[in-house]
Amino acid sequence: MECIEVWFVTGSQHLYGDETLRQVAVNSQKIAAALDAAPEIPLKVVFKPVLTDPAAVRSLCIEANSSPNCAGLILWMHTFSPAKMWIGGLTSLKKPVAHLHTQFNRDLPWSEIDMDFMNLNQAAHGDREAGFLHTRLRLPRKVVVGHWSDSETLASLGAWTRVVRAWHDLQGGRFCRFGDNMREVSVTEGNKVSAEIKFGFSVNGYGVGDLVKVLNGVSDADIDALSAEYEEIYDVSPELRKGGARHEALRYGARQELGIESFLKSGGFKGFTTTFEDLHGLDQLPGLASQRLMAKGYGFGAEGDWKTAALLRFMKQVGEGIGGGTSFMEDYTYHMDPAHPQVLGAHMLEICPTIASHKPKLEIHPLGIGGKSDPVRLVFDAQTGPAINASLVDLGNRFRLIINEVNAVAPTQPLPKLPVARALWECEPSFKTALAAWIYSGGAHHTGYSYSVTTAHMRDFAEIAGIEIVVIDKNTNLDTYRNELRWNELYYHLAPAIGS
Ligand code: MN
Repeated sequence: MECIEVWFVTGSQHLYGDETLRQVAVNSQKIAAALDAAPEIPLKVVFKPVLTDPAAVRSLCIEANSSPNCAGLILWMHTFSPAKMWIGGLTSLKKPVAHLHTQFNRDLPWSEIDMDFMNLNQAAHGDREAGFLHTRLRLPRKVVVGHWSDSETLASLGAWTRVVRAWHDLQGGRFCRFGDNMREVSVTEGNKVSAEIKFGFSVNGYGVGDLVKVLNGVSDADIDALSAEYEEIYDVSPELRKGGARHEALRYGARQELGIESFLKSGGFKGFTTTFEDLHGLDQLPGLASQRLMAKGYGFGAEGDWKTAALLRFMKQVGEGIGGGTSFMEDYTYHMDPAHPQVLGAHMLEICPTIASHKPKLEIHPLGIGGKSDPVRLVFDAQTGPAINASLVDLGNRFRLIINEVNAVAPTQPLPKLPVARALWECEPSFKTALAAWIYSGGAHHTGYSYSVTTAHMRDFAEIAGIEIVVIDKNTNLDTYRNELRWNELYYHLAPAIGS
């Protein structure tokens, strides 16, 4: 990954005199260094010289826009910084903003406090002046409150830096579709022009025949090496192993992985979609290949679902290094036992092994759809614990992001006849409320499913993208939630007129 950074930007003014401003700069550098060193914040935090006039603010914002490594700005008003001087800069700024409402000293020095101290610790009112202008400008931003040494403050800022890194990755990101949408399916459709305007990524289609050509050019030596790697890292069924009766099918899976990866690399793509209705020239539905490429960080959507492919890439970037894993997912079937209602999530084949709870098995079984040879696939149970399901839908006038917080559980019984990767979860706040809310929201059957990305990350994402987010969690009341959906219809209709 490139060296992506956020800039630490301090506001002040000339009124205080040079000596105070020197001290402001020293204090600010200390905070920037502490943020940079904090393990909660995975990005480099770069100190920028204290800003004291409109020209400096404007020039810093323009510099941020054109810096390829700057993913966002952390703003802090160390002293009072009259906010009209920020208008020119902030109205031209294109990078995400977090407003850190902190102060240099944590505690009041009760017995020593004097006007010098007051001068150097006045974010309490300085940041309110900034806050007014940000609100007046309808500036999308994250407000983080707390002392800069406080672990909660650092965690909240750190979460935002993960999101801006992923957002940065999405800008100019290219996504590739092999074939179009699954015929007649509505929710996986959407306006790709609107998406590029809103999210910064582009989606384009490529002929499966062009992919087949690349697949056919993959060398036997590379296929041998990757097949051997599969045998090392997975529990490969005997028939697929070298010397086994169906080893050629495994080798074809390796050919697909190598071919698709090569196609993606040469086109600079960050994710892709496939569809079982357009596999012309391919022997198998790319199951194993999709699973493996997701694990390498590519976004993926089945059945032409480019929105989920891009969302998945984004979520994988957010979760990078946290552990826990993120996968393409589909709410497949239910366990409707009133005592313990559960959702069984899976897909035909394409679930990412980063969410596996154990060493995956590599198996081959028939697939009753697509009319191709039996596809190889990784089979496993997903981890247990808290997770989220995220769905991005196109409502015609806007994108809506729907989140459901869930708790993944272990199956109480084996599933010997279900040869696919799967996850089992219970929804917050309850099965019935969660599913009714999801359906009223128009949430898709395809999601980005993650143990590492949280609702807080997704809220930051929605703020930056300027899209609607609705969250189904332990506090959700269905009647209130339905009203929120109604009010949002009005808000997003009026928002352009408000200026947000
Ligand atoms: Mn599907």
